[in-house]
Amino acid sequence: MTELRTLKVALLGCGNVGAQVARILLDDADMLASRAGARLELAGIAVRNLDAPREVELPRGLFTTDAETLVKDADLVIELMGGIEPARTLILTAMRNGACVVTGNKALVAKDGPTLHEEADKAGVQLSYEAAVAGAIPILRPIRDSLSGDRITRVLGIVNGTTNFILDQMDSTGAQFADALAEAQRLGYAEADPTADVEGYDAASKAAILASLSFHTRFSLDDVYCEGISSVTAADIAAAKDAGFVIKLLAIAEKLTAEGTKTGTETGADGNIGVSVRVHPTLLPREHPLAAVRGAFNAVFIEAENAGELMFYGQGAGGKPTASAVMGDLISAARSIVLGGPGRAETTTGQVSALPIAAAVTSYYIGLDVADQPGVLAKIARLFADHGVSIEIMRQTIHRDADSNIESAELRIVTHRASEAALAATVEAVKGLDVINSVTSVLRVEGV
Ligand code: NAP
Repeated sequence: MTELRTLKVALLGCGNVGAQVARILLDDADMLASRAGARLELAGIAVRNLDAPREVELPRGLFTTDAETLVKDADLVIELMGGIEPARTLILTAMRNGACVVTGNKALVAKDGPTLHEEADKAGVQLSYEAAVAGAIPILRPIRDSLSGDRITRVLGIVNGTTNFILDQMDSTGAQFADALAEAQRLGYAEADPTADVEGYDAASKAAILASLSFHTRFSLDDVYCEGISSVTAADIAAAKDAGFVIKLLAIAEKLTAEGTKTGTETGADGNIGVSVRVHPTLLPREHPLAAVRGAFNAVFIEAENAGELMFYGQGAGGKPTASAVMGDLISAARSIVLGGPGRAETTTGQVSALPIAAAVTSYYIGLDVADQPGVLAKIARLFADHGVSIEIMRQTIHRDADSNIESAELRIVTHRASEAALAATVEAVKGLDVINSVTSVLRVEGV
């Protein structure tokens, strides 16, 4: 048998994910060599604190605090430190020195992807980050490679396990947001400072990455409209449930014409086509495949012109699951070195623009507290029609206050697809009607 060459691997970070990657590199060395066509030698592990306890027992001699020297002498660099700096500088240094880079750093890729890709192209090395979106789920490679002969029209993703756990708790137990969050923190699904998860920022980074790959255009975090789940109430969840929906925090990327029609056309001759990239709480019919994604699991639902509907499901976080995605990227990068060149990376030939949230087109659920008088329904229906928003479902429930004996009615409306701008104008006008006591909720709906 011919002797395999050896590739030096530098690992930056030895936390939840890094420790598992180090374990796999050491324990499965023979298997990895046969899959990669080269031996992958763990040359060193850069950390902040040499004495910090590690989840995995590893040779002490591998550890260093000098990350810069480590990356300069590596064929492959795995960045699992997180944060923007020094991760960004170390990745750029590694690529300038000819190393392929694997990272799980969604914040960095979403913020500064163009610079990283430019440097990778210039250096002729592979840059991959499968672990950055939806942990263990193979989603970026299928979009980039398997679907490269198709046109993706829409991506809907549950890409943050913390918020999915919280919304699922609220849905299954009737809990308020604060109690569900406390439970998530108790079980280790949410951090002490949950802002990045519950305000949707983590999902927004992933939405930017998914949109970039799906629509062959580089989108950054600034292109993503973002609303978190902290204002979703138990009443919203109950009303949605009653109407046959479940509320999920979705990362959505879809291509629209200026008129708001979903389309698979790559670029419009008139340049009118853009991509709506957004993260917000969304109502989904309970029979939609994404509605069945429970607890802290992740899933990404893709619609493509020829493939039709696809769904990818699995663990979106955790040391071992995320390490699996990192190892897949590492083997692919090692193979590219063995075969001599990075091959064709992702393309940016789409050049479509990101649309403002006002241009987003979706269905809406609107809850109204109205006076129980004759003619109210007709008045409201006319007002919706005047604003070009057509109603798909309208349901009324009558309540009688036991003390005052006054009757009021609760109206639940689900609209057909309409633009955010048209819906916002409709809701403003509805508020002005004398028969309206209050607008109790306005939520976006997908999958109807
Ligand atoms: P973590 O547990 O916080 O570990 C970070 C590691 O990086 C630690 O070992 C730390 O060293 C080291 N580090 C941090 N700053 C450093 C610096 N300036 N110089 C040298 N070493 C430094 O992080 P993690 O959960 O493994 O996540 C790593 C990356 O994967 C992040 O980008 C994250 O977003 C991404 N990711 C994580 C998951 C997940 O489930 N955890 C899922 C998907 C993606 P010390 O140990 O000495 O402090």
